[in-house]
Amino acid sequence: MKTIGLIGGMSFESSLVYYRMINEAVRSRLGGLNSAEVILHSVDFARIVALQKAGRWDCAAKALSDVARGLEAAGADTVLICTNTMHLVADAVADAVRIPLINIIDETAASLSAAGCLRPLLLATRYTMEHGFYAERMARHGIEIMVPDADGRTRTHEIIFDELCQGRIEAASRDDLLALIETAKAAGADAVILGCTEICLILDPAALPLPGFDSTEIHAVAAVDFALADRAQERQVA
Ligand code: GLU
Repeated sequence: MKTIGLIGGMSFESSLVYYRMINEAVRSRLGGLNSAEVILHSVDFARIVALQKAGRWDCAAKALSDVARGLEAAGADTVLICTNTMHLVADAVADAVRIPLINIIDETAASLSAAGCLRPLLLATRYTMEHGFYAERMARHGIEIMVPDADGRTRTHEIIFDELCQGRIEAASRDDLLALIETAKAAGADAVILGCTEICLILDPAALPLPGFDSTEIHAVAAVDFALADRAQERQVA
């Protein structure tokens, strides 16, 4: 089994989900007491949020690249940035190491394509919905994302940072997110991307008005696919 390196802490609420999902996937595939080989470097999120607010993506890229190099030196075979937003600097982080970076946008796009969904609503932070990096990368896969209107984007961003990242789950916020999905469905959306790694804490992707694609689960499963790829090949040869 290969070792999965996680750049976490953004926020730690979602890193907990990654850790659980990765280990549950390994246990369900290998059975018994098997669990994942994981190295987690969890950062101080306040430091990263300050860089986001200041628009200092260059400094954030350097900070996460340093973490990625540390994971590589510690023995990780792959690295995951456990947040959609910080994929804004994913190319720089990937360039900083020799091990592969599993990109959350590419993995989510592959899941959407496999399901034949090409016009999804994206629920995410303001950075992910508005900066352009996410939409551009999805477009490379032939997927044209929709986003909520300005008020909807503000509300979603606030729910993520003021509630979910701080461990608060509010029923009123769930209702607001569901209303945004209904609006997008009426406007022609064919799916919804839980494009922030905390949104799965408030929305069940299997119980939405549109097919739900949880970026956290997709990313975690991709890591396990990578970690167990050699075993799958061994089984095929045997
Ligand atoms: N975890 C969130 C995401 O997936 C937001 C936290 C962040 O700003 O990195 O985008």
